[in-house]
Amino acid sequence: MFYFDPLYFVFVIPPLLLAMWAQWKVQSTFAKYARVPTSTGVNGIQTAQVLINRNGLNVGVTSVPGHLTDHYDPRSKTVALSQSSQQNSVASVAVVAHELGHAMQDKENYGPLKLRGAIVPAVQLGGWVGPIMFIVGLMLASEALMWVGIIGFGLAALFAIITLPVEFDASRRALAMLQSNRLLTEQELKGAKKVLDAAALTYVAAAAQALTTLLYYLTLMGRQRD
Ligand SMILES: [Zn+2]
Repeated sequence: MFYFDPLYFVFVIPPLLLAMWAQWKVQSTFAKYARVPTSTGVNGIQTAQVLINRNGLNVGVTSVPGHLTDHYDPRSKTVALSQSSQQNSVASVAVVAHELGHAMQDKENYGPLKLRGAIVPAVQLGGWVGPIMFIVGLMLASEALMWVGIIGFGLAALFAIITLPVEFDASRRALAMLQSNRLLTEQELKGAKKVLDAAALTYVAAAAQALTTLLYYLTLMGRQRD
């Protein structure tokens, strides 16, 4: 049943290598700029407070365990900041401003963010039902079941693709807010951009992985048909 398939490696290895490289890049870039204190002396928590006040955001700030686990939760309207993002560093301030970029998107009903939120339940269901249905469909040679699987994978890929404009836009907003509120100098902004660009790369890699997985399963279905 499970034979060696060279095509699997063609589809899976390149995006996997890209994802590993992106992970290394984001960790190393964050570590580099986590050692650069801001010249204003502002830390991550203060950055959050300044940006919340200046933009009139109705958003709470909480702590979250882990490293680079920071996120914005649109349901509870809270920005969750990890320990490393609460420090005084160019990297911390960049990450915090990015999360507040998501809060700004939420406030302005930014389309891709709303769309992404709306498909979350379907993506979660498709994410675990999809692969099972596909494998069962493959074993039973049932094209209908395989299609159910493909739709599950398709939803995951769609989610990963909608994530790209959401993430790029949050970073663009972050840099603009840091500049207009004079939280970072021009030189420090370049470092902040490097941190956010590295983070964006991980989302590009995730989208590439989702798309190639989808393509691989479509190819398997095509073979089954022949
Ligand atoms: Zn983000």
